[in-house]
Amino acid sequence: MVDFLNDILEVIYPNYCACCHASVSESETPICIQCRSSLPILITKPFSNNRQLEQKFEGLLPLKHCISFLKFEKGGSTQRLLHALKYNKRPEIGVVLGKLLSAEIKNAQSDIHFDLVLPIPLHSKKLKVRGYNQAMKFAEGIADGLNSESSDEVLIRTKATETQTKKGRLQRILNVSEVFGVSPLNEDKLMGKDILLVDDVVTTGSTMEACAKLLISKPIKSLSIATIAFAS
Ligand SMILES: [Zn+2]
Repeated sequence: MVDFLNDILEVIYPNYCACCHASVSESETPICIQCRSSLPILITKPFSNNRQLEQKFEGLLPLKHCISFLKFEKGGSTQRLLHALKYNKRPEIGVVLGKLLSAEIKNAQSDIHFDLVLPIPLHSKKLKVRGYNQAMKFAEGIADGLNSESSDEVLIRTKATETQTKKGRLQRILNVSEVFGVSPLNEDKLMGKDILLVDDVVTTGSTMEACAKLLISKPIKSLSIATIAFAS
């Protein structure tokens, strides 16, 4: 019930911190300074790959960097931010988290560079309801912070998929790999580039894997992945 009331408050009064729900000035929205300073950040200095994320794809994908920004805990600030980003029509949370991540990356290792930041495409039905792809907002923030480009017109959804919950891992991979494609109009944008593929969270990893395999089949220079959250 409290969550439900908070959700309503956030939609009506967007100048609430999406994390602690305190009223904040417009310059502090969507995350207040106190909440920003206590985010459960997973980036290490000097920079090293998130080992648990890396292990998910070991032997499956040749990945340069595996980055997870925040630790996910049930009832914690990361969960509250993700919830507001996805369900309370607060796309700016994704942009801010992308900018905060890029600052952490630069601080940890100044020479990390990406040419193009690509979000996992959102299912068209969800895009219609939500109005935006939360992974694209995260991509925009990262690209802005790292002086690179982002695009949601390179990786695309090609056909709808049935529910995946009752299927095994292999079937899930096959099932999702059918629904993603690289837009023929924008395929040349990948040529010789350092690509960063991003999503809000990785659960089974099958969606990330399907998109990554598509990208690796193109003449890119390197592929890295980043997620807003990681649940260990
Ligand atoms: Zn706060």
